[in-house]
Amino acid sequence: MNGYVIALDQGTTSSRAIIFDAKGTPVTVAQYPFPQIYPEPGWVEHDPMVILETQLRAMAEAFEKSGLSPTDIAGIGITNQRETTIVWDKNTGKPVYNAIVWQCRRTASICDELKASGIGEYVREKTGLLIDAYFSGTKIKWILDNVDGARERAERGELLFGNVDSWLIWNLTGGKAHVSDYSNCSRTMIFDIDELKWDEMLCEKLGIPMSMLPTPVPSSMIYGTVAPGLTGLEMLAGVPVCGSAGDQAAALIGQGCINRGQAKNTYGTGCFTLLNTGDQSVRSSSGLVTSVAWSIGGKTTYALEGSVFNAGSSIQWLRDEVGILATSSECEALAAGVPDNGGVYLVSAFTGLGAPRWDMYARGAIVGLTRGSTKAHIVRAALEGIAYQVKDLLDAMEKDSGEELSVLRVDGGASVNNFMMQFQSDILRKPIDRPKMVETTAFGAAFLAGLAAGVWNDIGDITAIRESDRIFEAQMEAEKAEKLHKTWLRAVERAAKWEE
Ligand code: ADP
Repeated sequence: MNGYVIALDQGTTSSRAIIFDAKGTPVTVAQYPFPQIYPEPGWVEHDPMVILETQLRAMAEAFEKSGLSPTDIAGIGITNQRETTIVWDKNTGKPVYNAIVWQCRRTASICDELKASGIGEYVREKTGLLIDAYFSGTKIKWILDNVDGARERAERGELLFGNVDSWLIWNLTGGKAHVSDYSNCSRTMIFDIDELKWDEMLCEKLGIPMSMLPTPVPSSMIYGTVAPGLTGLEMLAGVPVCGSAGDQAAALIGQGCINRGQAKNTYGTGCFTLLNTGDQSVRSSSGLVTSVAWSIGGKTTYALEGSVFNAGSSIQWLRDEVGILATSSECEALAAGVPDNGGVYLVSAFTGLGAPRWDMYARGAIVGLTRGSTKAHIVRAALEGIAYQVKDLLDAMEKDSGEELSVLRVDGGASVNNFMMQFQSDILRKPIDRPKMVETTAFGAAFLAGLAAGVWNDIGDITAIRESDRIFEAQMEAEKAEKLHKTWLRAVERAAKWEE
């Protein structure tokens, strides 16, 4: 049966490959971590050849372990760490510099100059983004400005740019396909998300020759086939590479959030929240960003996106720095062991606050302490603080889009916490739906590939594949929830603009 799909999940710390069957069940997994490179404070790089090598090795291993034959594999889908920037020589395939990782802040001063030049509104209108060093545009400029001879070579048409999706597809197809799906393009700060093409003005402003840019493509189509002669993958030569989306977009579709008003939140170190806004590319007035989520069969779907910088990390902090938790998982029983927060609120603004407040000078705070406050209250306040921040993001998304949130689907390491999920529903007044199969990001990529390869026929098929593990409904009285949230907002005021 030709009904299996390989998902390549190229993340910030590891390269993974998962084979899914036509029911969406993972069959085999292989994973290789790789080194982070920190050449200077605030700089983060990866070796593109190591990204490629670990990814191909993971794919070969997942295939070998599965015992499947090559004809069982209908296609390959890719999901990746977004924004990370690679520039390579199109003749030799050699990168001219390490991959500059999304977290890298080296281009902050380029961003300051761009802001000072007054193009912030243009950037927002065309690209849906805020000017920030996260996005690829200024990272490309940095490479062209700082690597010997790179600009001249780029102008001669010898160099190619790609995000990790593009780099992997180019290599998998033996250099035949230089493409990038719209969701990845959306995170470059040089892509017009409504016209679905590169923006000439922004490329010119950053001095990026357009000849080095990949062709923007939909998320589900045959980009090419696996080239013969890739080490360890000889058997898979000819298999179509036919799906691609950045990690957050892949998770949105992998969670089956295919209708407007549906949102997903990933509770990890930080939280990543995306709301499907259908064919509307909404511009935010609360500091959220707008991206293409996916484009399938000529229909483009957009998402509003925001993040909580410190979510699960506040639990890590209580465990590793404060020492009041021995393990992360014990926070649930501690929090549930007290009847309420005892008036304690914890604002995890360790590195400032993101949307909707955008306050880089906010710092963490624990307020409302009394002589009767216990460690259980503080732990509970940390978990509740995560849920309040997610609510504030989603409230902003509803306001900006005029869309009413119908359901929040959840994943990530901290979503196993039933206490926090129940509290999230109580505060948000919406159902919280946690899936059985938690590999939502990888499955999103597999689904996009499987749609192009005919394993599935329609985007709606995902509704039948996705199964809920548990749905949390609001139990707390609405009035009480509102009162708690109001007090939370007062706590946030105490943390705001703290650093002078
Ligand atoms: P990431 O991918 O960002 O590294 P994960 O999705 O693996 O994160 O989630 C790990 C995070 O979840 C950590 O910050 C950890 O503190 C937190 N975490 C783990 N278990 C729990 C739990 N039971 N309750 C709340 N947070 C938890």
